[in-house]
Amino acid sequence: MHIVIIGAGLTGVSTAWYLRKAGHQVTVVERREAAALETSFANGGQISLSHPEPWANPQAPLTVMRWLGRRDAPLLFRLPAEPARWRWGMEFLRECTPYRAYRNTLAIGRLAAYSGRLLRDLRSETQIEYQQLQRGVLHLYFNKGDLQHGQRQSRILQELGINASVLTPDECVDYDAALGSVQPRLAGGMLGRDDESGDAHLFTVKLAEVAQQAGVNFQYGCDIERLMLEDRRVTSLHLVDSFGRRGAVTGDAYVIAAGSFSKSLARRAGERLPIYPVKGYSATVTVRDEKRAPSVSITDESRRMVCARIGDRLRIAGTAELNGFNLELDPTRCEALLDWMEDLFPGAADLSHPTYWAGLRPATPNNVPIIGRSRLGNLFYNTGHGTLGWTLACGSAQALTDIIDKQPPDVKFPFWKGRS
Ligand SMILES: Cc1cc2nc3c(=O)[nH]c(=O)nc-3n(C[C@H](O)[C@H](O)[C@H](O)COP(=O)(O)OP(=O)(O)OC[C@H]3O[C@@H](n4cnc5c(N)ncnc54)[C@H](O)[C@@H]3O)c2cc1C
Repeated sequence: MHIVIIGAGLTGVSTAWYLRKAGHQVTVVERREAAALETSFANGGQISLSHPEPWANPQAPLTVMRWLGRRDAPLLFRLPAEPARWRWGMEFLRECTPYRAYRNTLAIGRLAAYSGRLLRDLRSETQIEYQQLQRGVLHLYFNKGDLQHGQRQSRILQELGINASVLTPDECVDYDAALGSVQPRLAGGMLGRDDESGDAHLFTVKLAEVAQQAGVNFQYGCDIERLMLEDRRVTSLHLVDSFGRRGAVTGDAYVIAAGSFSKSLARRAGERLPIYPVKGYSATVTVRDEKRAPSVSITDESRRMVCARIGDRLRIAGTAELNGFNLELDPTRCEALLDWMEDLFPGAADLSHPTYWAGLRPATPNNVPIIGRSRLGNLFYNTGHGTLGWTLACGSAQALTDIIDKQPPDVKFPFWKGRS
């Protein structure tokens, strides 16, 4: 079958790889000039199997209330809001019940565990290098309540077969001496031992290279404007290239993997995907003092920040802002990243020349991605991965390949089935 994928981010490129491995002819159409130039460009760099809990959980409404009015709040709902933002916000609140949060955690956790196994296989098969580290992710808790929450999460992770253990503050420092200065403030930690970190952009670019060598056709600089439909099937995709020329691309089946822009493309198929672009920031800085810089990837559970070592750089990422497709960098939110770095790891990095970046997480209200078939016979979705697009990339791509091939995926997950 000839399958056309819209989007060459983490999700689209991974999908291309697994579809090609299954013997399909694959074309990836991407409006940018290369792979991974949008949300997959400078993310937090974590493969975080140990973080399946969605933002929408029973603590979230109170936490969001506490942060209201703070410009550096980890989660910011900017006003005035358009109807789509209100709607997404209401759906988010509905997902905050204990039952739904637990159900969503299990779904994401199963997909994450599956994805982690596939990533290891992919690495040994392709030998791609992307400054990866397999030292895990260490979650830090700064108060008793957060630590108790972490302990409950670690029990769920064990049920899911994800290797995670709770550490005392001393054990955190034993694992990474760079935590020495913060140790007196720590309530404890949780180490996701199966977790990894690295450069997601490099990963995607390298995977696109091996996919191309394996026969995948990448058409860059081509913006898909419309899906053409006939008899409840997609017949072709209309595009405009970087010179303004119009054309079309035709396949037997189509996959929308266009990140936050998937929603508008799916609308043409008559389907409403519950995706909202949730903006996040990152800052990349150079390591100044090896001894003070963490080598394990860090998640600060109290302030919702993450940090990953990428070669001789540190990537600090976090914050969630609901403000449409706006990608402007707010100086207050940028500075909050560096303040966090200096607070936890004083002197570790040269903060004088940070590279700031913002990206739009394609977020569903419950953080469960949209993987499966649309209401049209030959249109599929692999999108809506929100905070965990890299963590879930391989598993989502393999599962969608199975669905397209009419095989049962090897993971229990609420796959999308087209809604009329
Ligand atoms: C600050 C931040 C930190 C994060 N940290 C992590 C982390 O540590 N670990 C993790 O697992 N995840 C993390 N994420 C989430 C992860 O980066 C995303 O989920 C992931 O990048 C989404 O990938 P994607 O391929 O679905 O979307 P994208 O990377 O946005 O790719 C979609 C592609 O589709 C193309 N496209 C869109 N519309 C069209 C069109 N009409 N025609 C042609 N092409 C089109 C775009 O140009 C783009 O290249 C983070 C995100 C942010 C913002």
